Amino acid sequence: MNEPGTGAIARRGVCLVLAAPSGTGKSTVARALRTREPGLGVSVSVTTRAPRPGERDGIDYHFRDLAAFEAMVAAGEMLEWARVLGRDCYGTPRAPVEAALAAGQDMIFDIDWQGFRSLRAALPGDVVGVYLLPPSLDALRARLEGRGGDAAGEVTRRMALAQVEMAHCGEFDHVVVNDALDTAVDTVAAVLAAARAATPRLVGLAGFVAGLGG
Ligand code: 5GP
Repeated sequence: MNEPGTGAIARRGVCLVLAAPSGTGKSTVARALRTREPGLGVSVSVTTRAPRPGERDGIDYHFRDLAAFEAMVAAGEMLEWARVLGRDCYGTPRAPVEAALAAGQDMIFDIDWQGFRSLRAALPGDVVGVYLLPPSLDALRARLEGRGGDAAGEVTRRMALAQVEMAHCGEFDHVVVNDALDTAVDTVAAVLAAARAATPRLVGLAGFVAGLGG
């Protein structure tokens, strides 16, 4: 919570979910937003998938085997979890998120549409969802091909998945087309600023008004 006398109203944190199909530039937008908003925490998910080269345990993900993942789910330690693309399991650990929200710290989540739906149900009133769309399917294909590491079949597979993913964009609170990076980041930052000022989040409002004096 904010300290009294700082000119800020004590509030709960915001859970900002940024979802997009692979190749839309979601990580770039998230990185740029965090540079602008250094106080924005990141929710580190738990996954059963193997680390990719360069990924670090506890930073990119908490990498766990299926038994450990299932034990966390059974113990109620996940706020939400999903089997993504019918393959690996991904989940959001509960404790760090609940602590951040109560402390008035905002967090960004890189989770899919299923995760957004479940997170919103688990934390009603705390979650704001932004769906990032590519400007066109051609632009998306070009970005997927530009990653180089993807074989031709993989690009086709990801394009098909993207269309299934994007069908859920209407469930989100806001949709941003990632045509120009700066504009997209501006819009997501504006959504975050508005969410911070939402009245239901301002748990210290009455005290703040009482302390205004006059
Ligand atoms: P990747 O394996 O490429 O890192 O992530 C694959 C997908 O899993 C992405 O769409 C990502 O947003 C999603 N994902 C990552 N963490 C979570 C999580 O904790 N919960 C859910 N539901 N999806 C997640």
